[in-house]
Amino acid sequence: MTDYLSTGSLPEEYRQLALTVRDFAQQVVAPVSAKHDAEHSFPYEVVAGMADMGLFGLPFPEEFGGMGGDYFALCLALEELGKVDQSVAITLEAGVSLGAMPIYRFGNDDQRAEWLPQLTSGQALAGFGLTEPDAGSDAGGTRTTAVEDGDSWIINGSKQFITNSGTDITRLVTVTAVTGNNGGKKEISTILVPTTTPGFVAEPAYNKVGWNASDTHPLSFTDVRVPRENLLGERGRGYANFLRILDEGRIAIAALAVGAAQGCVDESVRYAGERQAFGQAIGRNQAIAFKIARMEARAHTARTAYYDAAALMLAGKPFKKQASIAKMVASEAAMDNARDATQIFGGNGFMNEYLVSRHYRDSKILEIGEGTTEVQLMLIARELGL
Ligand SMILES: Cc1cc2nc3c(=O)[nH]c(=O)nc-3n(C[C@H](O)[C@H](O)[C@H](O)COP(=O)(O)OP(=O)(O)OC[C@H]3O[C@@H](n4cnc5c(N)ncnc54)[C@H](O)[C@@H]3O)c2cc1C
Repeated sequence: MTDYLSTGSLPEEYRQLALTVRDFAQQVVAPVSAKHDAEHSFPYEVVAGMADMGLFGLPFPEEFGGMGGDYFALCLALEELGKVDQSVAITLEAGVSLGAMPIYRFGNDDQRAEWLPQLTSGQALAGFGLTEPDAGSDAGGTRTTAVEDGDSWIINGSKQFITNSGTDITRLVTVTAVTGNNGGKKEISTILVPTTTPGFVAEPAYNKVGWNASDTHPLSFTDVRVPRENLLGERGRGYANFLRILDEGRIAIAALAVGAAQGCVDESVRYAGERQAFGQAIGRNQAIAFKIARMEARAHTARTAYYDAAALMLAGKPFKKQASIAKMVASEAAMDNARDATQIFGGNGFMNEYLVSRHYRDSKILEIGEGTTEVQLMLIARELGL
């Protein structure tokens, strides 16, 4: 694997994958996006289509039911889906990078054998339960507890804003919980909780500003008893392991955000060429053309940032700083482009059925989820020794 990926010369297998997913996004996803957004319904038929294409297994080896690809392949798929439907893209991103990946990275043979084939085939989804009412950016503030009792863990507490945690095909939530105290420091571990376990409840879904077709719930745990062997990875390493998952996840979110930013460019170019005002297409006005040119520059530079972070990750080199930079600039590019595209669409841009208005509502969360912009700045500053 090269440690450089160029937007101008993607290796052929990556290019083909991007084209295949682009076609799927246009033929299968786009026609039902506005409906699922308006109805706040989970797009089961689209998820089944992505499962059939093997997208949930993209970065996993074939022995676990995967496609034998890599994380960059996942990113390319997310970029294509993000252009037309961020809810669908985040469902795939969370399913793969937050749902299945922790088990692949930190699970033992039994856990991998039990869960990965279901998750990589897209037949089942798993949630990633880190955030709590008192533990968001400061995720170490976890209050959920897991206490040993014979051969079991007994879990009590709550999580909030958990993606893919309450669909009909959700089978598992991986949660962080305090399992002890090490010299006054919380010991945080990660535990697998099947959703059928008594005492586990996915509370009613949130009424969100955007990502309406993505599934997000608060979760509660009341004396939830799971076997001791459901501990994922080493005891006390739960927080550190989840942070590693979030480092990778930031590259995936950046790719999704680049898709959103590019989707806004594509829609704006089309609309500016068609919409007539003062006897000519509005794109003939330099004010509009320059706005779109700036949007293109944002999408392009954000793309180079996530390609770079992905290339470093695949080459086994440090990528933490580059992942944070990519996540930050790409989410800002998506938000800025969505605002500009909405302006170019005029009154139509304020109508929910238009893709740019959906991007306007959907893009804000990109600057918040999987680490806010401020958290990315903290991480970048830390890498600089500040
Ligand atoms: C739709 C959606 C889906 C999500 N999916 C998941 C999921 O699947 N799993 C999961 O675990 N979580 C999930 N989250 C949670 C998400 O990751 C958190 O909301 C996010 O990390 C921010 O945490 P918070 O909401 O508690 O904000 P807070 O941490 O309370 O932050 C509030 C504000 O203060 C700022 N801030 C905090 N500390 C500092 C500081 N030291 N310096 C400067 N500024 C600071 C933040 O940047 C932010 O602007 C999801 C959230 C949403 C909305």
